[in-house]
Amino acid sequence: MRFNYDFEIASLIILTIILLHFILIRQFPTDKTRIFKILLLTCIGECGINIVSSICIANTAIVPLFWNELFVFAFFALEGLCSYLIFRYMMVVCEYEGNSKKIMMAVGTIPFLIFELMLIITPLIGFFYYFEDRQYYQGFGSACGFIYIAFYFALNIIMILMRRKTVARRTKVIVVIYCIAAITGILIQLKWHHLLLTSTGNVIILLMIYLAMQNPDELLDTVTGTGNENAFIIQMKSMMGHPDSKVIMTVYIRQFYQISTLLGYENSNMLLADIGSYLVDVCGKFRVFHVSVDTFNIFVESRDEAVALRQKLERRFAEGWIVLQNDVVLNMAIITQHYPRDFKTITEYRGLWQYLLEYAKSSGNQTFFETNDAAIEEYQRRNKVEIAVNKAIREKSFEVYYQPIYSLKEKRITSLEALVRLRDDELGYISPNEFIPLAEKDGNVIHIGQQVLEECCKFLARHILSNASLGIKNVHVNISAAQCLRPDLKKTVVTMLEQYHIPPSMISLEITERTAISAPKLMNKHMEELGRLGMTFSMDDYGSGNSNCSYLVQYPFQEVKIDKQMLDAYFESKSARIVLENEIRTIQKLGIPLVVEGVENREQSEEMERLQVDCIQGYYYGKPMPEMDCLRYIRNLNTSPEEYGK
Ligand code: C2E
Ligand code: CA
Ligand code: CA
Repeated sequence: MRFNYDFEIASLIILTIILLHFILIRQFPTDKTRIFKILLLTCIGECGINIVSSICIANTAIVPLFWNELFVFAFFALEGLCSYLIFRYMMVVCEYEGNSKKIMMAVGTIPFLIFELMLIITPLIGFFYYFEDRQYYQGFGSACGFIYIAFYFALNIIMILMRRKTVARRTKVIVVIYCIAAITGILIQLKWHHLLLTSTGNVIILLMIYLAMQNPDELLDTVTGTGNENAFIIQMKSMMGHPDSKVIMTVYIRQFYQISTLLGYENSNMLLADIGSYLVDVCGKFRVFHVSVDTFNIFVESRDEAVALRQKLERRFAEGWIVLQNDVVLNMAIITQHYPRDFKTITEYRGLWQYLLEYAKSSGNQTFFETNDAAIEEYQRRNKVEIAVNKAIREKSFEVYYQPIYSLKEKRITSLEALVRLRDDELGYISPNEFIPLAEKDGNVIHIGQQVLEECCKFLARHILSNASLGIKNVHVNISAAQCLRPDLKKTVVTMLEQYHIPPSMISLEITERTAISAPKLMNKHMEELGRLGMTFSMDDYGSGNSNCSYLVQYPFQEVKIDKQMLDAYFESKSARIVLENEIRTIQKLGIPLVVEGVENREQSEEMERLQVDCIQGYYYGKPMPEMDCLRYIRNLNTSPEEYGK
């Protein structure tokens, strides 16, 4: 029979062009790219051998039988491999994980192994083909070859259907076109035996995959020329498929946002491009990833390499970068995480990474952060605390304790501070100093604030309003920055108070100065609006940060609470003594009443009395207590004040 090779020759040319382009445009060495490369080479081999073996079969009289047998065998072997590799490529595209990955892999690999086994014994039993009188004949199992190909068609389609929600639309289109092309090819070949079309279907799918799914720019960051975040995740997943240990190094540039505001968009992009190309020079093209504006991630092979690289980067960053003929010195931090020692999954990696990054952001000039046991422990503890907070929000299980505020002038307890308490089955008591800052970050503090305010309203309605003889003027409630930043703060507070018929004057909101300055205009608006209704405001933790009396002029505070830190320092150093005395005098001159926090003994109390402080809050006048204990405490001590401190 004379064969028509035209389609095969055209296919060979197209496949070779794709291969050349693939080699010239270097692509990220992902699993997808690796399989694509093997598939491309297999298809080229199959196409070439198909042409050669067809020529041989057409000329059996002059071609030695051995060569004929060899080429036919090789053709079958590569054809079997080709279907299997398309399946492997689709597996990567479908991103199967865990058990379903293992099952799919077994379902797809077993037929391939059986096919190749049957091929190996074909020269002995004539399963797929046999030669007689130097002529090629189809064997008794030749139909199995078609079944084999049909099986992989079906499997690819089933895989795509199973993952239809996550797989991209273009992938589905490619698979449909591939099936149509392959079935058309088979039908044509059944009708016209002399037409060789085996590789035409392969060319169609490879071309489509290459154009649509092997897009090299997809994984590149256009600004820096390094890999993008997507590429990083793909590399991470690939890394986790192998047991070898690796180090992931993060280079974080501090205050890049501020720098880019000064430099402008284009110049800061040029700076990033410089940094990116330097990192690529030092680390290699496919190992550097620009994962967010101020952060690069680098894959490093070993601990020793990480140490050497770190030293190199520290030296380079100390030198500065030239932007618009100016030397810009960047403050950077390096974080290293070891796989599989520090993390096993991407979720674990990300959690730990974010934790270390936050730590790096708030740690001034420190340049190196490594995941160590303490960091992992802290991170895990933080996760557990976050879970406990979420659970308490869901179950409304926060408790509120009340701490007395004692008036030195009236010689009795006049106010209380509401302090939230969280008790978890697993972690036990968790201090608000630990969970409030976490809840501030994820916004949960708003729910906590609501629950505390509600508990407080219930307490006031049940025990305080109806009991004027207790002499409690108001209850102080702490309010966080996240709550103050909400424009509807007034509405939520007022709605709650109305629900329990609480006069606004019974609540004093405690605000730290950090909170006040985070949104000055909004804060002033809240204070004015709620103040008009009779609610009062206390400046909390005065003296714990960069205190400034000017805030007392800027905001209408009715009270200032001096922090325990300042009180303790007062008894430790002469200069701190002078500072506190002056602060107290200034605040008194401004006519704002003062509360001193953290008073633990008689000496401290008497000293504050001498300075004519208005009120005192501290263990000396009572620790935070559950509401019933607190009521009992107030009743006892407001009637027999000589009991304080005993
Ligand atoms: P804070 O507002 O400064 O509250 C005073 C803290 O000092 C309380 O700690 C209290 O128990 C403690 N304290 C009072 N007197 C003494 C003393 O004599 N000695 C010592 N060593 N400590 C004393 P607590 O209850 O652990 O609260 C810590 C912080 O958590 C609070 O500091 C406040 O910033 C925050 N917090 C507590 N409850 C809430 C809340 O409901 N909402 C918000 N947003 N924050 C809260
Ligand atoms: Ca407070
Ligand atoms: Ca305080």
